Amino acid sequence: MTTLLIKNIHTLVTMDSDRREIRNAAMIVRDNVIEHIGIIEELPQTADEILDLHDRHIVLPGLVNTHHHFFQTLTRVVPAAQNCDLFNWLKVLYPLWANQNIFSLVSAKPMIVKFLKIVCVF
Ligand SMILES: [Zn+2]
Repeated sequence: MTTLLIKNIHTLVTMDSDRREIRNAAMIVRDNVIEHIGIIEELPQTADEILDLHDRHIVLPGLVNTHHHFFQTLTRVVPAAQNCDLFNWLKVLYPLWANQNIFSLVSAKPMIVKFLKIVCVF
């Protein structure tokens, strides 16, 4: 079993049923499972690994993306599709999407990087 203590969290956003936001927080993670959260004085001060956030970071639950069209990333900037209503937007973009090729994979990569950067999970 390995433990991780994340301490000196400026604000820990729990998203629990009371929507608590804990200032001066800490978190204990055991084997990749969050075991305890609370104000830092309430939690053990030792662990196998300690990450000190120096009261400069907000910690919140990961965002879960339940639906995404990776191949459409690059077509967001097609000039003819800007400021269209839905039907005209689709009329412009469907012909592009109908011709999937290696550029669809290239199009997906920036979005994957963005999701990694914002810690979005699938
Ligand atoms: Zn969709």
